[in-house]
Amino acid sequence: MKTFWFLAPALLALPLFAQPSATVPVKPGRDAAQPVDEEYTKKIREYTTEPFFNSPLTDYLPASKTVPTPKAVLGDIAGAPGILPYSAEVYRYMRMLQAASPRVKVFTIGKTEEGREMIAVAVASEKSIAQLDQNRDRLAKLADPRTISLNDAEADKLVAASTPVYYITGTIHSTETGAPTALMELAYRLAVDESAYIKFIRENVITLITPIVEVDGRDRMVDIYKWHLSNPGKQWPNLIYWGHYVAHDNNRDSMGLTLQLTRNVLNTFTGWKAQVLHDLHESVPYLYDNTVGDGPYNAWIDPMLADEWQMMGWNNVSEMTKFGMPGVFTHGTFDTWSPSYLMFIAAMHNGISRLYETFGNGGADTEERTLRPNEFARTWFKQNPPLPKAKWSQRNNNNYEETGLMTALAFFAANNKLFLHNFYLKARRSIEKPHTEGPAAYAFPADDPRPGAQADLLRMLQDQGCEISRASAPFTVMMPGKKPARAGRGGASTEPSTDSETPKPEEKPKPVARTFPAGTYVLRMDQPYSRIADTLLDYQYWAANDPQKSIYDDTGWTFGELGNVQVSRVADLKVLDAAMTRVSGAVRSPGGIEGAGDIYLVNHNADSALMTLRYRFPEASFDAAEEPFEAAGHKFNRGSFVIRGIPNAGLAASLTELGVQAYAVAAAPTVKTHPLRAARIAIMHTWLNTQAEGWWRLEFDRLQIPYSYISTQAISKIADLRARYDVIVFGPGAGGNPQTIVNGRPMYGNPLPWKVTPETPNLALTDETDDMRPGLGWTGLDRLQEFVRQGGLLITANDTTNFAVTFGFTPGVSTSAAQRLKVTGSALRSKMVDASSPIAYGYTDNLAIFASNPPLFSVSNLAGGGGGGGRGAPTDRERPTGRGTADDPDIPQGRPQVDIPDEPHAEVWQPTPLTDEQFRNPVNVIPPAQRPRVILRYSNATELLVSGLLDNGSELAQHAAVIDSPLGQGHVVLFSNNPFWRAETKGSYFLVFNAILNFDNLGAGRKLAER
Ligand SMILES: [Zn+2]
Repeated sequence: MKTFWFLAPALLALPLFAQPSATVPVKPGRDAAQPVDEEYTKKIREYTTEPFFNSPLTDYLPASKTVPTPKAVLGDIAGAPGILPYSAEVYRYMRMLQAASPRVKVFTIGKTEEGREMIAVAVASEKSIAQLDQNRDRLAKLADPRTISLNDAEADKLVAASTPVYYITGTIHSTETGAPTALMELAYRLAVDESAYIKFIRENVITLITPIVEVDGRDRMVDIYKWHLSNPGKQWPNLIYWGHYVAHDNNRDSMGLTLQLTRNVLNTFTGWKAQVLHDLHESVPYLYDNTVGDGPYNAWIDPMLADEWQMMGWNNVSEMTKFGMPGVFTHGTFDTWSPSYLMFIAAMHNGISRLYETFGNGGADTEERTLRPNEFARTWFKQNPPLPKAKWSQRNNNNYEETGLMTALAFFAANNKLFLHNFYLKARRSIEKPHTEGPAAYAFPADDPRPGAQADLLRMLQDQGCEISRASAPFTVMMPGKKPARAGRGGASTEPSTDSETPKPEEKPKPVARTFPAGTYVLRMDQPYSRIADTLLDYQYWAANDPQKSIYDDTGWTFGELGNVQVSRVADLKVLDAAMTRVSGAVRSPGGIEGAGDIYLVNHNADSALMTLRYRFPEASFDAAEEPFEAAGHKFNRGSFVIRGIPNAGLAASLTELGVQAYAVAAAPTVKTHPLRAARIAIMHTWLNTQAEGWWRLEFDRLQIPYSYISTQAISKIADLRARYDVIVFGPGAGGNPQTIVNGRPMYGNPLPWKVTPETPNLALTDETDDMRPGLGWTGLDRLQEFVRQGGLLITANDTTNFAVTFGFTPGVSTSAAQRLKVTGSALRSKMVDASSPIAYGYTDNLAIFASNPPLFSVSNLAGGGGGGGRGAPTDRERPTGRGTADDPDIPQGRPQVDIPDEPHAEVWQPTPLTDEQFRNPVNVIPPAQRPRVILRYSNATELLVSGLLDNGSELAQHAAVIDSPLGQGHVVLFSNNPFWRAETKGSYFLVFNAILNFDNLGAGRKLAER
C-alpha cells in the first residue's frame, strides 16, 4: 500500500481525497509465451495513425486456436476504417465468444422501445463464470447489510469470498460510434489473453459489458453511415432521431426512468449488485475521464464516493501518462451535480459512477482533426495535452477506450477488497442515514388530493429500488416551522412581498407537531437505496455566486414540487416507530365507481389519468363543469367531468385500472357545463431538432393519448388543416429561431433524405422525408395561421412561443429575452391569475413549474403590443423637479390648481388599462374577447425559486407564465415554462391537457372588459 508520488499536484489541490490504494502487482504487456495474431496485430498498427496513440495493452492481439477474433464478424479488425457493425453483428460476435470460451456468458437484459434486444456480457475466469449465482448471493448481502444485521465481521467474510462486478456500457450516444468494436475486442482480450496483467483482471473482477445502450439509435446511425459511404462526395443527413423519443437526452433519464434503456441498465446494475457503472462517450480529445470532473458535486452522494472517483480517475491518468499517450486527463469542467446521467445510477445506488469521453469522428472515417485552443492547451491537470492537429482514426479511439478500461480494471482488481468493503460501507451508511445526516423518512400524506400523481411518483421510486411502507394508523411527528422567505433568494429584489404572509425574518420558526393520517405512504431512509430517494425528493440550491459558471445541465428537479405531489421531509426519528407495513407490488391509487345511476361524476384534480380516461372513451359524452359543485355528498372542483353514454361495467374496469374514482348519480348537477371533446391532436416537429418534443411524445404515448405525428413540411402541404385537426402541439426545442422554422436548413448541396430504403431500413418508426432541408415555408405559415383562425388551437412552449409571437399569431403578446436573469433548468413558483380558465381546471395555487432560460412575456390590449404591465405604475416614476417634498405635487404658478388624474396602473402580468385617449379612434384596440388572457404568472422575486439556480429573478418575477391568446375563432396557448420535461414535470402536464380538451371552449369563465 502506498500513495503515488506522481499524483502530488492533484492531491495538493484535493487534500481530502488522498486514500492509500494498492498498485497493480503485474506489468502491462503481452506474455511472450502466447502467440500473437500476426495479421490482426499488423492491422492494428496500420490503422493507428501514430505510435503514441497506442499502448502496450492494445498494440497486439493474442492469438487463440479456438476463440474467434472480432474479424470473424467484422471482416476486418475492430476500429477498422469504414466499418461500423449493427447491433445484430455485435451480438452475434458476443455469442460466438460465449460458445467458444467458458470465460464468457451473454445475458439478455431487455428490449428497446422499438423491440431491439439489449444484452450484457460477463467476462471473467472460468471459476467466476461458473459461480456467478453464488457470488451474486454474497454481493446481495453486502448490498443490503440488513440481511446480516449490519454485522461488520460477517461483511468482512463476504468481502473475502466475493469477486466484484465492473459494469461497462457503450454507445448510449449514437453519434459516438466507437465503443461497440472496442468492447468486442476488449471481451476477446479478457477471455483469451494469458498475459499476467489480463489474467490478474480476469481472476479478480467480473467484467460486465453492455456493448450498445441505445440500440435503436445505433442501428439508425449505421444506416446513415452506410448511406454516407455509398454517396461519396455528398453531404449526409445528420442523425435527427437516435432512440424512438429522444437523442442526446437519453443520458438524462436516470431520475424519471421513462426510457427502456435506462430501466434495463438500472435493473442490470442493481440485479448484479455491481460496484461500478462505467459509461463510454466520445466528444472530448483524447480521453477525458470525467469521473473527477468538477464541482459542485451532487449534494446527496456519500463522501466516500468522491474519494473513490479521485482514486480511480487519477490512477487512470497516471497509467496512461506513463504509456506516453497524450490527452488523458480527469479534472475538467463537467460538474457532478445532476443525478440524471446513466452512470449516476451507480452513484445513487452505493456504487461508483464513471464516464469516459474519448475522441470519435462520428463514424469510421479516418480524418485530419483540428482542435480548438482550449482543447489542446496544457493546464495543471492536462500536462500532456492533445495535439493541435492530428490524423485521427476509429482505431485510435478504440485503443484509448480499451487501454483506459484495462488500466481501470487492473486498478480495480488490485483494490477489489477495498472497493467491495466500501460498497458494503456505503450501503450500511445509507441505512444509517436517519441517525446521521437524516432525514428519517419522506411522508406522502394519505389525504393528498392527487392520489394518482402520488402513486405515479411512488412507483417511480419503487422502480429505483426504494421500499415504500404505508402507515396503518395516524402518527404524529415534529416538523420544522415555516421558514421566512429569504430576501434576495431569487436575486435582489426591492419590492415588498405581496404574494403571501411572510413572517418577519427575526422570528425564529418553532417546530410544530403534525399528524399524518392512516394510509400515509412512508419512504423510510433506513434502507440501502435511501440516497436516490433523498436526491429526488429534496430541494436543490445552486448559489448564484457558485464558482462553477459553465453549468452542465439542470440545477433543480424536486420531484414532489414539479409533480404537484405533497411530500414531507421528516427529520423526527419517531416516524420510524409509526405503525406501518411494507407495500408489496406497485403502488396504485384507488379507482372505481361509487353510487348508482348512469351519469358519472369525476372530480378534476389534474391527475394525468383523467386524460387517458377521456381518450379511452372517445365516443362517450364528457362535459366540464364551469364552477365547483357538490353532489353525491362530495365536493367537485371546477372542470370536473360529467360523463354520459358509457356502460357501467366497461367504465368501472377502466377506472380501477387508471386509479380514478367516479361517482354515479341519477341526475346531472345543475352547474353550467360545456362539452369536453376528445380533440384530434397533431404533434408538429421540425427537421431541425426533435429531441425536446420527444419528451412530450413519450408521455402522450405512455398516457395513451392518440395523435398524428407530422413535420412542418407535411403541415405546409395540407390545405385545410382545420378539417383534420383540432389541436396542433408545437413543443419546444424546434431548433433555431422563428425564421429557421419557416426557412428550414440552408438549401446548399444535395438533398438530405430521412427515409426507409433497403440501405436504411432502421430509419423506420420515426417520420420520413425526401429532403430534411425545407422548413414550414410561407405557405405552411399561412395555413397554420388559418388553422387557428378557423377555431384550431396551437400550443407553444418556451422557444416556440417566440415563433407564434414573431409571426403575428398572438396580438397583444410580446416576448423578450432576459438580459441578466439566469435560470438553468430550475423549478420556479407560479401563481394563479385566472382560476376560472379551463386551462387551470383541477389546479390550486402555487404550482411549481420547470423553466430554463424562459422568455419574458408581456401582454397588452393593443395590437402590436405596447403598454405592457408594470410600466407606468406610479411607484416607478419619480416626480419632476418642482415645489414641495418628494411626495407633493408640483404647483404651476399663477393659475388655479387642478387635480392630476391617476395614471393607469397595472401589475407586471397585466396589460395597462386602456385610456380614454386610446378610445378616441381605437383602431389598434383589441376587442375584449380577443385580448390575451393570463392564466398563470411567475411568483414575486423572493418566493420565485423552488429548486435549482435563479439569479436576477426580479427580471422574471411576476411576468405572465401561461397565456391564452385568442386569434379569430381559435386560440394560441403560450407556455413560458416547459410543461413536459424528462418526466420530471408531471404536475404541469394537465395545463396542456386542459387546453386540449377545452380547445373549443377556452373562453369559458372569462370576465370580459366592458370596452
Ligand atoms: Zn456522449
